[in-house]
Amino acid sequence: MPTLSKRITGIMPSGKDGWEVHFAALTRKQAGEDILMLSVGDHDFDTPAGTVAACVQALERGHHHYIQLAGLPRLRAALAKLSTDCTRLETTPEELIVTQGGQGALFAACQGALDPGDHAILIAPYYATYPGTVRAAGASFTEIEASAERGFEPDPEMIAAAVQPETRMILINSPNNPTGAVYSRETVEAIADICRRHDLWLLSDEVYWTLRGSREHISPRALPGMKDRSLVVNSLSKSHAMTGWRIGWLTGPADFIRHLVSLNIVSSYGMADFVSHAAAEAVEKAYGVAEIAARYRDRRRAFLDAIRHINGVAARGSEGGMYVMLDISAVEPDCEAFAWELLEAEKVAVLPGTSFGAAGGHVRISLCQEEPVLREAAARIGRFIAGRT
Ligand code: PLP
Repeated sequence: MPTLSKRITGIMPSGKDGWEVHFAALTRKQAGEDILMLSVGDHDFDTPAGTVAACVQALERGHHHYIQLAGLPRLRAALAKLSTDCTRLETTPEELIVTQGGQGALFAACQGALDPGDHAILIAPYYATYPGTVRAAGASFTEIEASAERGFEPDPEMIAAAVQPETRMILINSPNNPTGAVYSRETVEAIADICRRHDLWLLSDEVYWTLRGSREHISPRALPGMKDRSLVVNSLSKSHAMTGWRIGWLTGPADFIRHLVSLNIVSSYGMADFVSHAAAEAVEKAYGVAEIAARYRDRRRAFLDAIRHINGVAARGSEGGMYVMLDISAVEPDCEAFAWELLEAEKVAVLPGTSFGAAGGHVRISLCQEEPVLREAAARIGRFIAGRT
């Protein structure tokens, strides 16, 4: 076989994707074992019936063809309104492009803003694809740790100190995967200020914005002087329970977005016609949005309540999104060992924090299960820990 490009082999240099515990657990569950899967960030329920019906109708009406490369105009218009709500800044359809999920938007943003040799700043723990997405643009990155002691909010002074002459971008994510942290206004303002001072892009991943619990969602795009340097990643995957439909979008300056159309031409050649019609209706009618947000809020409360009495674990800064980051350092600093042993002893699948760039001693719990399952998982975790201490 002739050689592969350095670009492709450089995306995941370790060859490990961090999902080893999840896939081992999945194989055993599919073989019939009673394993509680708290390892994956996909809903345990299906897409709302209204969205499914809209898709069937779109198919029956002949929406089977190529569509505009920046996205179906009806969908772009609906997403512009949704972005206006999310960022609290008036957004026009020309300021966004529809992508293959939120991941497509992250990829497009990095391709559009970073050149080989450029540098980006990531906040750890982070969504596991961030390093590879930056590397795919040929750029390098520095990780700034958002510590559990600070409720997983980053220290802006540490970010400012990491800026180099090659730095072009800071990437933030609130509500956060994997920690559940929802950044305060002060934190977002301080990071925006660094971007203004050093002429940087601020890539803000807001895919969990509807799952913000009782907190206010702050998008940097609406802050003074930030409209032309903010790139906002969004998606219907979590908010509208549409993970498998692959509808995301990137909001940014109209000129930046215009250039990204060329990326769609050479990659996806646009989105699926009937899916785009269904997605437009899902957004226009807000199918499921309030119920999904309420469901995750209740699940978070139920899980946090259930683990409160377990000696040796803590969950700090857990306020939004679909996850809880559990501090197990008092029991076992090696979180990979903890995850494998928990799977073996109690048949609960969680992911080690190190899969998300976290310091050791944490595991990520996904709330994508009904409350009784979450309570049962908490009881099994408690029993596992009691057996070790
Ligand atoms: N950003 C974050 C923080 C995520 O957690 C995810 C998915 O889990 C994505 C982006 C990608 O979303 P999508 O499934 O729409 O590609």
